Amino acid sequence: MRYDIAIVGSGPAGLSAAINAKIRNKNIIVFGNKGLSKKLEKAPKIKNYLGFYEISGKDLKDKFKNHIDSMGIEINNNKITNIYAMGDYFALVSGKNMFEATTVILAIGVQYGKPIKGEEEYLGRGVGYCATCDAPLYKEKTVAVIGYNKEAEEEANFLNEIASKTYFIPMYKREGLMRGNRLDDTIEIINEKPVQIKGQTLVNQVSFKNKYIDVDGVFIIKDSASPKTLVPGLEVEDSHVKVDVNMNTNIAGCFACGDIAGKPYSYIKSAGQGHIAAIAAVSYLDQLKIQEKIKLDNL
Ligand code: FAD
Repeated sequence: MRYDIAIVGSGPAGLSAAINAKIRNKNIIVFGNKGLSKKLEKAPKIKNYLGFYEISGKDLKDKFKNHIDSMGIEINNNKITNIYAMGDYFALVSGKNMFEATTVILAIGVQYGKPIKGEEEYLGRGVGYCATCDAPLYKEKTVAVIGYNKEAEEEANFLNEIASKTYFIPMYKREGLMRGNRLDDTIEIINEKPVQIKGQTLVNQVSFKNKYIDVDGVFIIKDSASPKTLVPGLEVEDSHVKVDVNMNTNIAGCFACGDIAGKPYSYIKSAGQGHIAAIAAVSYLDQLKIQEKIKLDNL
């Protein structure tokens, strides 16, 4: 099945794109997570979202959820790891699953903070962003999982079933270590921030302030990956996707909105850009239809 629009991201930008595309009767698929966006949940009090003075992030999230539920919009839990422009459609890859869509709206948000030294250099040479996708490569090997969220613990457990040794390096405050520890007992936790990922042709080490560990692979589990890695050929400037006023990227049929399309980072700007991206995607689809009709008429 080929969707009209694939929306990657379930924060304010992605959801706004979804409702606006659905209103225009497009066949859409939305990738993200059931909790919508951690950045929504985490805000204690929001003072700048029009119409909802001092609403908590959680309450705003619930309002967004009610809105999409009322319109029958579902969130697909698959994390998209690669998007390829195939000419007249896009192929979206998530582990073993592949989805097709005529247009794509990127609404993946941004990961605050700089990449770890060596992360980008060794990407694809032992550094990966999806453990469940690449785990079979690390059978009986030593791996480190650098986790920026709790979901990383599930990925570490999955890897641990295959690898001979798994390290888990949490980049967030782990709570409930006594109760509800979701990590397998055999996983070694390193409660220190990594300084550098090192290697030669391939990765072979993660270093810390006063020590290092030897590894065959490193998985970095974040809420969002670099857009350049996600979509080969995408033009990026200062870690944001380059867009015009209609949220067009340099790739025809691919749009970007929200934090990933640049500052300011805000809910209302993200929702507004999601709206524009959806309208631009719909107009792109309409143009394709007109071109198709002209082609058929000329036959
Ligand atoms: P996000 O909300 O980051 O959503 C992106 C979504 O995409 C996430 O659900 C993520 O899981 C998903 N995703 C990413 N990659 C993939 C993938 N490959 N496949 C599938 N899904 C993917 N802004 C304000 O205006 N007012 C405030 O008061 C305010 N307070 C804040 C407080 C905190 C603590 C924080 C952290 C942020 C705050 N912000 C505030 C900023 C605001 O949260 C962001 O600007 C906004 O959430 C951006 O929306 P977005 O849709 O672009 O991205």
